[in-house]
Amino acid sequence: MIQDPLVVGLALPEEPAERSLSGVAGMGHAVVPGEIDVSHGTILYLEDVTVSFDGFRALNALSLSIDVGELRCIIGPNGAGKTTMMDVITGKTSPDSGKVFLGQTIDLTRMNEPSIARAGIGRKFQKPTVFEQHPVWENLELAMKTDKGWWASLRARLDRSAQALIEETLAVIRLESEALRLAGELSHGQKQRLEIGMLLMQRPALLLLDEPAAGMTDDETMELASLLNRLRGSCSMMVVEHDMEFVAALAGDTGRVTVMAEGRVLADGTLDSVKRDETVIESYLGR
Ligand code: ADP
Ligand code: MG
Repeated sequence: MIQDPLVVGLALPEEPAERSLSGVAGMGHAVVPGEIDVSHGTILYLEDVTVSFDGFRALNALSLSIDVGELRCIIGPNGAGKTTMMDVITGKTSPDSGKVFLGQTIDLTRMNEPSIARAGIGRKFQKPTVFEQHPVWENLELAMKTDKGWWASLRARLDRSAQALIEETLAVIRLESEALRLAGELSHGQKQRLEIGMLLMQRPALLLLDEPAAGMTDDETMELASLLNRLRGSCSMMVVEHDMEFVAALAGDTGRVTVMAEGRVLADGTLDSVKRDETVIESYLGR
């Protein structure tokens, strides 16, 4: 993992403390103030989260937690509340009740969307949103510049490492040979990878991906799965997906898969075990 160019890039000594990935498994930093406190091994913690829309409970006492460095797949029928859960984590929707914490100490229910993003949570929506009129390379640079506060002030000092980070990110998303092309000319799968690269430029501690394989060809889907597998250890991830082959490629035999239905966790375990769970089978068949 040390050889992974992205991980090397993320471990640069100039890294601002606010955005440090100290908690990431295998990187071995000590926890210092201003970083995400993952001393108990948990990057995300939800407890009894409820969200109602006109009396309808989109989330119904949802509890789940994600370990540092974990890549957690979430599956579940339409309307299960998966996107609403991501809305709550990112501050787009305020829960009626319940706890939502990043690490041990960061109470996300008290924060707005921009400050949650700054705290280290990156979100990938279904549709890729890249700057079509700009080259791939510049998309990554712009993604970095959007973080005006600390980045601008450190920019002069970080310029060389910023360039290195762009190159490393291009390698991780396998778009080195497309660096000078306009983003608008990329295929759908390449755009999706570019958008993930743009999120990586913000050095997230936790990445949320909502149905990232939707609309992709089989090849693009498997390429995305290998990208996410390459990112293991450099950030924690929560991936909502319907495509079972994609989920299998991410979860393997031992990865944890959470099944949501009717706003809560229905089952949790290896992909094999949840697929054999009677309540899961019933919920998918709608009985
Ligand atoms: P999933 O992503 O698992 O398909 P969603 O979180 O999108 O499920 O939706 C869960 C339920 O909440 C659905 O029944 C949906 O219609 C409802 N819902 C989601 N967002 C809103 C909203 N802003 N207003 C009213 N109902 C909503
Ligand atoms: Mg959804």
